[in-house]
Amino acid sequence: MIGHALAGLALSLALSLALLLGLSHDLRAQAISTGCPATPSRHWEAVVPGVWVWPGAAEDINPDNHGHVASQVLIARGRSATLIDPGPGLAHGLAVIESARCELGLDVNRVLDSHAHAENVLGNAAFLPRQGMTARLEATPTTRAAMTERCAACSASIARAAADPALAATPIVLPEPSLANGQRWDSDAGSWLTLEFRSAHSESDLAWWNERERLLIAPGLIYQDRLPELAQGSWLGWIAALRELHRLQPTRVAGQSPGSSRGLQATYRYLCDLGQAVRRALESGQSAAEASRIEWPAHAGSAEWAGWAGHAERHGFNLQRAWRELEPLWIQGDPLACPALDPDPQLQMSSGN
Ligand SMILES: [Zn+2]
Repeated sequence: MIGHALAGLALSLALSLALLLGLSHDLRAQAISTGCPATPSRHWEAVVPGVWVWPGAAEDINPDNHGHVASQVLIARGRSATLIDPGPGLAHGLAVIESARCELGLDVNRVLDSHAHAENVLGNAAFLPRQGMTARLEATPTTRAAMTERCAACSASIARAAADPALAATPIVLPEPSLANGQRWDSDAGSWLTLEFRSAHSESDLAWWNERERLLIAPGLIYQDRLPELAQGSWLGWIAALRELHRLQPTRVAGQSPGSSRGLQATYRYLCDLGQAVRRALESGQSAAEASRIEWPAHAGSAEWAGWAGHAERHGFNLQRAWRELEPLWIQGDPLACPALDPDPQLQMSSGN
């Protein structure tokens, strides 16, 4: 209802402005027939023909970004589109629907939830059937189960961080548990392969691979300029997932936030530095209680990680999490398996992904 009221208000304002400015009859007629503002906001950045990204902010959740810290991806098939991750709440989901229609001429008829984090999936609420519009909401069974368990608490948490009570009031809409590793689906940009990684960034993280375009979409797994979040994940699982994704040799990458084309290597290097910091601390006799105060090793890109959003809030927790996994391996005498990745093939995307 709020979305309709806002859309109506935006339309009437746009029409009033068009009248005031003496814009053409055609423009006003178009605005009336489509329900779109005469000059729609521009959110979507083209990745390849038929694929667009609305970049989330490379920041932690705060009142200025309203929780929009995870990117949305639209993939067209004719005039319909599949949306990967509807964003942090009802208002953003409605803005996605409107901008897909008004900016790109696309109706979203399928929504894929990449993993069970609030900033990625609470926008599902905008896709409840209304006015003849229906979209199929889908995720893995594990993601649906995690949303069932956590979403009530995580919507309260995102609302607090964004200082936006409307986020807490967003209804939690669960997806169908229909997605699985190995599924293929088609689009105007070619075929997509669904990849599921268990226990990497979260309990279940989906990525999508388009071999024709060598385009990888990996929303939860690839970070840039924002500190990776290990809270529901696994250091070992995430390292393994990134090595597998790197073997695909993507030339374009869409991740959690803008700049993700460099993010696969950067996320991997951060996690390896994290593991090496824990390992050195174990070898020097520090205890688990000291884990959150471990210094970066001298060779690590500590200046780079310290400059990433969320470092002060999350790095200590990430250290403790990695410690819990790596201590038993160190006791067994296992080496830290974190060899450098081969250099990337030439990446063709510099921003907005
Ligand atoms: Zn996440």
